Amino acid sequence: MSERAKKTAFVFVGGGNLGSVQVGTTSPYYDGIMGHLSKVGAAFLRLVAVAGPVLLGLLTALYIGRPSPYFLAAGITLAVAILVCDGWIIARRHWITGGFALATKIAFLILVGTYTASPLPAPSPMSDPLPQASPPDGMAIYALPTGVNHRTTAFAYRGGSPWDKRDSVSTAVLVRHPQGNLLIDTGLGRTIAQQMREFPFLFRLGTDQVQFQPAADQLDAARYDRRQLRYILLTHAHWDHISGVPDFPGVPVLVTAAEQRFIDEGGWATAHARSMNAVFQEYSFDGGPYLGFTQSRDLYADGSIVIVPAPGHTPGSVVVFVTLSGGARHAFVGDLVWQLEGLLEREERPWFEARTLGENPIVLRQSLLRMSAIATRYPQITIVPSHDPRGYASIPEWSQSATR
Ligand SMILES: [Zn+2]
Ligand SMILES: [Zn+2]
Repeated sequence: MSERAKKTAFVFVGGGNLGSVQVGTTSPYYDGIMGHLSKVGAAFLRLVAVAGPVLLGLLTALYIGRPSPYFLAAGITLAVAILVCDGWIIARRHWITGGFALATKIAFLILVGTYTASPLPAPSPMSDPLPQASPPDGMAIYALPTGVNHRTTAFAYRGGSPWDKRDSVSTAVLVRHPQGNLLIDTGLGRTIAQQMREFPFLFRLGTDQVQFQPAADQLDAARYDRRQLRYILLTHAHWDHISGVPDFPGVPVLVTAAEQRFIDEGGWATAHARSMNAVFQEYSFDGGPYLGFTQSRDLYADGSIVIVPAPGHTPGSVVVFVTLSGGARHAFVGDLVWQLEGLLEREERPWFEARTLGENPIVLRQSLLRMSAIATRYPQITIVPSHDPRGYASIPEWSQSATR
């Protein structure tokens, strides 16, 4: 073996030579390639240490919204890789890179902190009497489940757990009333698959949705006379509440002026509302205070269906109070909270989710606290957050009901 062949080669682990060993034949090309590889390797390790926590934050948010084992495995792998790279940076004393790596780790920890419990202070107890209502005979309500998203409680409210899986349902509610039936929201409609394709990639990646029978198909299957359906009443105009509107052509869709503006000016979440040729019909709040809300609209002037403005999630979000002739009362609160704990524990939506939706947190907080005071004072009112399956437990399902 020649002297050159006995030349010492360095074994690099990402740009730092750990030591020298005697190896076989080498050449200037070999040295060049190894030198290049070591620089690339070092740059990669620095990148993982600095940018890794940012990607880990994204994976955390994705897993919370869609608890897939793939996101979990990717997150654990990335976390281990970040620790290895941190060790390398400390061993090499790359303090500038280390400073950036520390900053992104702090940002990651701040993000995790935004998912921890942070209950709002309890509102002052309310003393308003339970409003009078004279619901006519023949009133009834039915739930029409149209689909489900698999999520975690951490996604729905601060203090929820990423390990606590919770279904997020999309359910339309049919209210029978002698003056005209109405649908409170529509759930996922017949064209939901096409609608989903138009959403941003990251949104679809973080959504694990299963569709059931659309509300229109459930009604048609029972030979429901569509002429009885007078209105579609939206709690708000987000895609998962309005998706089924095109399945009811010509039926007026009741919205507040604020929500109509939001639809006209809004972003991707209301893109479908703009494109579906819906017959939007604005209504105003011409009634007085109702259970602590400053304004109201008594739809059929009998107290059975009363709408109040509860903005924040969207500018024109509402709560719909429905009182049946038997005395049962329901409050359909839309997406004021995603799960009941949001109201009962006064926990807001996590920052990342609220931010993605473009909510107004200050206005939303007032609406949430007002509704929370009602829930405390009047436990006999069944609170129905649109996406909480427990809210529908006492409402007969349309497809199962013999009395529809
Ligand atoms: Zn919404
Ligand atoms: Zn929703």
